[in-house]
Amino acid sequence: MSTIYRPPSEHPNTDPMDPGLLRDVAAGAARLTPEQGLELFRRMPLISMGRWADSRCRAIHGDHLRTYVIDRNINYTNICTAKCIFCAFKRTAEDHDSYTLEHEQLFEKVQELSDIGGTQILMQGGMNPELPLDWYIELLHGLKERFPHIHVHGFSPPEFIEFVNFFDPPGATLEDKIRWVMIRLRDAGLDSLPGGGGEIFAKPVRDKIGLGKCDAEAWLTTMYVAHSLGMFTSATMMFGHIEGFADRVHHMKLVREWQDRALRDFGAGSPFTRHHQGELASPDDQPAGGHYKAFISWPFQRDNTALGRVKEWGSQPEDREPGAVFPGDLLANLTGDADPKSVKEFGRRIRMSGSTDYLRTQAFSRLFLDNIYSIGASWVTMGPHVGQVGLQFGASDMGSVMMEENVVSSAGTTYCLDEAVLCRLIRDAGFMPAQRNNTYDIVSVKDGADAPDRLVTDWSEHRAQRLHIESESKAELTVGATETVVE
Ligand code: SF4
Repeated sequence: MSTIYRPPSEHPNTDPMDPGLLRDVAAGAARLTPEQGLELFRRMPLISMGRWADSRCRAIHGDHLRTYVIDRNINYTNICTAKCIFCAFKRTAEDHDSYTLEHEQLFEKVQELSDIGGTQILMQGGMNPELPLDWYIELLHGLKERFPHIHVHGFSPPEFIEFVNFFDPPGATLEDKIRWVMIRLRDAGLDSLPGGGGEIFAKPVRDKIGLGKCDAEAWLTTMYVAHSLGMFTSATMMFGHIEGFADRVHHMKLVREWQDRALRDFGAGSPFTRHHQGELASPDDQPAGGHYKAFISWPFQRDNTALGRVKEWGSQPEDREPGAVFPGDLLANLTGDADPKSVKEFGRRIRMSGSTDYLRTQAFSRLFLDNIYSIGASWVTMGPHVGQVGLQFGASDMGSVMMEENVVSSAGTTYCLDEAVLCRLIRDAGFMPAQRNNTYDIVSVKDGADAPDRLVTDWSEHRAQRLHIESESKAELTVGATETVVE
């Protein structure tokens, strides 16, 4: 039976660097306020941040298992009405390389996934006004008929908001309209929603980089509707561009608040009620209500994007003058509602993120998001070895084996890993690899001699193999980059 969820207590007058407070945060007995969070983010040395995050991660997940999933990322169309300036994936219908996959092509991709023991597809695309509701319903029915064992994790909140705009469903409020569409897609076979399109929630940042994409309220409302229908979702953040550090904290604050709401309103009890060491999946012990299962953050990838051509912070003489402050930091606040006109240079500089900023942000998310079960390491953007180090900085999950990736690859990032490499990365980081499913239940612990990495006899040969399994004709369709990839 589920218990009523109560968030950890806050101690706003305590110094966030206080070891006693941090011990309680690591144990899940105290919550950092946004003000404490921002101060911690700025002041705490990287390694200390990593140690505390690791301690929190071990309190939730134990010392033994770290997970991965075998899924396939399918981008069903690259035609999109939005004009996000960080996106190299979108096309207009008139572009020579625009595409929409046929249902049969999608089924072939899922068959390939099923053949290697995959458990889910991550299906996202551009916001394509030419596709009617029936296109999605028939696709989902077709998938479930052919692959009842494959979990369909699909359609991020910006897609849902455009479904509402395109299909004009009945309903007095946006929430009603989203629910009308979502029930139909759920009944046709949609299992859960990915957290794509989160970027940064603060309005000044979102207005600048996500042209034509839904605002934070609509994004969060879509997820709330999914939670009300008992679905699990993930949340994401794309950082390392024009935002300030306070924007990152504000973003996580909203995720945490809406997660509290979902846990309270839909009777999920604790987000940590199960998933213990080595426990195998059982349909009987699922938490009752829908909520966010995971948070994944990653740095903006710049190649082939308009945002990537903005001058980098520090590149101009005035940026290097004594006392100069990054415009994003000058503007950002913890309420996400600053007036962008108040900082002239806002949006005219980007501050790209490197490994240490990534690890700091990921570790911070583990400490701040006290009500989220899993923090994912983003090896897709950061590379396998930073992803591996991420397992010591609060991440419990290495995400997915990458069979296909059409999104960050054209923004300059082309890492692809198979199951053996993922297992090896986890094992070499000091943990036992375990395959999970979409609800983060463990489906297989890789502790035997037949573990995928233990079957490899020559790693130099193995690494040289090309991991994409795309056929040539499909590879022609491979373009682009959005933020919507690893959730
Ligand atoms: S990021 Fe997504 S919504 Fe934005 S332009 Fe690209 S495909 Fe469209």
